Parts: sequence; structure tokens; C-alpha cells
Amino acid sequence: MLNANLPPGLRVGFTTTIPVEVILAAGLIPVDLNNIFITAADAYQQVNAAEAEGWPRTVCAWIKGIHSTLQRRPDIKVVIVVTQGDCSNTHALMELLEAEGQQLAAFQFPFPRSRELLHHQIAQLMVFFGVDWPMVTQTWRELNPVRLKLAELDRLTWTTGQVSGRENFQFLLSGSDFNGDPQTFSRHLTEFLARVRRRPHHAGLVRLGLIGIPPIFDNLFEYLEELGAQVVFNEFPRQFSMPGKPLDMVEQYLNYTYPYDVFGRIADIAVAVAERRLDGLIHYTQSFCFRQIQDRLLRQRLNLPMLTIEGDRPAAVDHRTRLRLEAFVDVLRR
Ligand code: SF4
Repeated sequence: MLNANLPPGLRVGFTTTIPVEVILAAGLIPVDLNNIFITAADAYQQVNAAEAEGWPRTVCAWIKGIHSTLQRRPDIKVVIVVTQGDCSNTHALMELLEAEGQQLAAFQFPFPRSRELLHHQIAQLMVFFGVDWPMVTQTWRELNPVRLKLAELDRLTWTTGQVSGRENFQFLLSGSDFNGDPQTFSRHLTEFLARVRRRPHHAGLVRLGLIGIPPIFDNLFEYLEELGAQVVFNEFPRQFSMPGKPLDMVEQYLNYTYPYDVFGRIADIAVAVAERRLDGLIHYTQSFCFRQIQDRLLRQRLNLPMLTIEGDRPAAVDHRTRLRLEAFVDVLRR
């Protein structure tokens, strides 16, 4: 990859969590395109508009949303596309963006998991952004206290229930880009933690884990709370927050389960099931996503009641799914 020679303050988009330390060390602003898409007031209309433009109905809505986001955000000058460890849709998206003249950088999580190959991939990204290991390692050290605060927020979700499932989801999800500004994000986290520690402890009737792709539904947590269920484990958002205490940055992205095989995910979920005393799991799957295939293995290897639900586009939970959730929570309560 060539050195992109980018001016400080430029926004760099990405399609899934990447070693964000590289972007920050270069003085640039990281933007997780998924977060921009899903928090847009008109996310649903964006997917419809993409289909009216010619996107196939049978392509995952997240991909259409990312493309639509980029069309509306010319200030995002460079996009890092993860061409291994995410999905083949992203690969095709990269080709489309290239044809549209978007400046791109490719990143691959090695398969199978390999420290040496991951080290090489990160080094290539560093060349593109004109930074070196000391700069990136320093940034990683500066981010560690922020990640520790996210870990504390997660702990307050499953131990005392002072953080709700929705709050947990939103903060941990933002661990992918720190909303573009780690210092401000860290300050907000400190204030939030101080506030929630004053809340009374809360215990739902049923303790749930939400596994799989972040749900595209906009009211899933609220609906589950109405049913008396408490989400105390958000699998992928927790992964995006880089939990644990790795010895270095490469180890951190090696421990990260999202881009590698499903067996690492299963081991991680099994720990959460025991530690967080989960009563059941909801496996969210996205329409037209290859990860639906992994549902069988998750069911076979995780010894806990599991409900698999599917969403298509950004909207409220549909009537049929609500009925299934209600029945599932009801069974777990008995
Ligand atoms: S939900 Fe599945 S198909 Fe869609 S972008 Fe994510 S991994 Fe790819």
C-alpha cells in the first residue's frame, strides 16, 4: 500500500472494527460507518432508496446503509474496507466504491488466526497512514484507560444491573471509533459511570445474552424490558470494546473474536453464560447474512435455551418476533 499522505483532522471511515489506533496515531478521525448509518433518523428510508437505485433486495441492509452513508458524507475521504474477517459483501462494496472514485485502504484479519500475519497487516495499514509502531503503541496505551472504563460499565450491567442493556449496547458499540474523539468519549464515560453508581441495584426476572450481529431493530431492548427481561451480555459490542488485558496491541486484535472462526466466539460466550448466570440467549441474525449458518453450531455447543430471531431493515421489532420473544421469556421465567 502507498502512503496516503493525509492531512490531520481528515475523517476515515471503516466498515467494521479495525485497529483504530493506527488512524488516531496519524491525527485522523475514525468513523465507524455502521454507527452513522444506524443512528440516522432516516435509516429505513436509506435502505429503500438504495434498492430504488438498483441494489438487490437480497443483500444485507447494513451494506446498503454503509453505501448510502458514504454518498451523503463527502467529508469521509478515505475508507478502510475489511476484505477478510468481515464478509464477502464488503469485498463487492469495495469494488463499487473504487469505481466511484473513493480512496480505499484494505485490511485483512488473517484466517486462520496468526500473530505474525496480523502483525504484518497492521504494519501495512501503518505504512498507508504514515505512522510507525512507537506512535501506534503510544496511542494504544492512551486508549487503555478508556477501554477499562468500558469494562467497568459492562461489569455494572451484569453485577448490579445499574447499567441497562440498551446503555451497555450503545457505549460498547462506540468502542469501535470512540465517536471520533476518544477524549470527549472518555469524559462522557466518566460522567455516566458516576451517575449510574448512584442508581439502585436492579435485577430483571430473566437474564439474557444477546449474541450475533448488532440487531437492526430499534426497540429490541425496550421490548425485552417490558417483558421483564434484562440483557446483561451484548456479545459483539463487548468485543468491539476490546475487553481483557492484552500485553500489546497485536494480542488485543488476536483476542478479538468477531473476525475469526465461530469456535473462538463460542468459547467467549460460554464464559459469559457461566459468569453472568444467563438464563437464555437470543441469537440475532441479519437477513441475507452468511452468519446465519453459524446458528447450528452455536445451538449445538452452547448448553442454554436459545431463541434465534431475524431482522431485515431498521425498524421496530415486528409482530411475529414480538410474540416469539414473549413466549421465550415466559418459558424462562417458569
Ligand atoms: S450483517 Fe452479515 S452480511 Fe451484513 S455486513 Fe454484517 S457480516 Fe456482512
